[in-house]
Amino acid sequence: PANRPDWDWQPGFSALGPAFFTALQPTPLPRPHWVGVSASAAQWLGLPPGWLDSDEALQALTGNQLLPGSQPMATVYSGHQFGVWAGQLGDGRAILLGETGQNIEIQLKGAGRTPYSRGGDGRAVLRSSIREFLCSEAMHALGIPTTRALCVTGSPQPVQRETQETAAVVTRLAPSFVRFGHFEHFAARDMQPELRALADYVIDRYYPACRSHPPAGANAYAGLLQAVAERTAVMLAHWQAVGFCHGVMNTDNMSILGLTIDYGPFQFLDTFDPQHICNHSDAQGRYAFNRQPQVAYWNLFCLAQALMPLIESKDAALAALERYKTVYAVAFLERMRAKLGLANRQGSVQLSESDGALVEQLLGLLAAGRVDYTVFWLRLTEAVASGNFTPVRDLFLDREGWDAWLQAYSALLVHADAGVAAAGMRQSNPRFVLRNHLGELAIRAAEQGDFSVLRQLQDVLERPYDDHPEHAQWAGFAPEWASSIAISCSS
Ligand code: AMP
Ligand code: MG
Ligand code: MG
Repeated sequence: PANRPDWDWQPGFSALGPAFFTALQPTPLPRPHWVGVSASAAQWLGLPPGWLDSDEALQALTGNQLLPGSQPMATVYSGHQFGVWAGQLGDGRAILLGETGQNIEIQLKGAGRTPYSRGGDGRAVLRSSIREFLCSEAMHALGIPTTRALCVTGSPQPVQRETQETAAVVTRLAPSFVRFGHFEHFAARDMQPELRALADYVIDRYYPACRSHPPAGANAYAGLLQAVAERTAVMLAHWQAVGFCHGVMNTDNMSILGLTIDYGPFQFLDTFDPQHICNHSDAQGRYAFNRQPQVAYWNLFCLAQALMPLIESKDAALAALERYKTVYAVAFLERMRAKLGLANRQGSVQLSESDGALVEQLLGLLAAGRVDYTVFWLRLTEAVASGNFTPVRDLFLDREGWDAWLQAYSALLVHADAGVAAAGMRQSNPRFVLRNHLGELAIRAAEQGDFSVLRQLQDVLERPYDDHPEHAQWAGFAPEWASSIAISCSS
């Protein structure tokens, strides 16, 4: 039929050879049904209109039937989990269907056991699949680098977690799903030809400038490390600015392309608590919100160690890692200046140091007052537009502290036109983020077979800076019960 996709499968990752993966088939699930579909991801993939309505799509994206010409595989990687070397992990429940002619990899998460499943069942539950689906697409709409989610399908098949739940499959998309852990795997086993082949593959495919323009006095592999460090820094700056807590920043959950990947116990902050731990299983707070930038650096250090046999020079590796710190600091300040309406004003370069101090003071006030992070930015935006700062002031306990801060802020703001500043702030401060309780509302309805909340939430999160008056309450404070939602690694 005319509306079937021409996948135009590319050799892609499979060209690396059998040391890197195991060819296998997804395990079917009974009586699949649609849970959610992203039209925007479908468009990125270039799917013909209507194909996602077909039974072929439903069956194929649940893993019940192969897409024509696809040669599925599970890839092998290792990694550090919670700071400790964990040895071999690998795609324990993700199956790569292949790379399309658009150079997009299609992966099914939850499609059954693989040789890397270890004790696991190879499945994903509906609850966590909905969270990953909504958040991937929400992050994309926020302009934050991320893997995408094309759809979620569900099945009545029982899956045992703390309680009995049901199975679901998320179809994920990314130019590449290679993780830091893929490199660590071959380095730890001293498999140097494979390590080099993987690095060459990633450079040729995704970072060709590292070969044509390596850093001064260093080779392409040092260039790769530096480029990954820079992309990771930009991703972290986005996370910290929007108030996103990933929750499981193990090296196997770090994308070599600097994409947010493996949505598990993640959380968007409600009240601004720098020490917030979103992962119920993270007793030590290793992945607490304010530790994320340091943890990313630690993870990059692991990647550097893995790449050392190729980089050869310790100084080159350290110089590449150093870029993380500079790029992070600049990118974070850029994000915060945009949120404050202080971007693109006259004399901005000279004022940047005081901007940094202003941001630090503000974060201190937000933390002390346990102020809702997203609501604060919305009220500040409206205050800049109207000139009435009382609704912002009302959020703080330390009114004197707030008044002092506002005075310093106003002094910088006079360099900008208020209307222009507010317009910029509206594009930099999302009205809607995937707060835990919103995801929970969509999940509870979906578990009863009602996908309407999920669809409405998806619609709102697709245009997070817009006014959605019919869902105004989703832009407000989290309800009391939100704090009792406990999300662990179990998914
Ligand atoms: P995660 O903490 O979700 O990033 O997963 C860490 C490792 O455990 C990866 O190798 C996953 O593929 C694997 N894993 C997680 N859940 C399952 C499961 N239900 N079945 C098989 N493997 C799993
Ligand atoms: Mg993972
Ligand atoms: Mg709407």
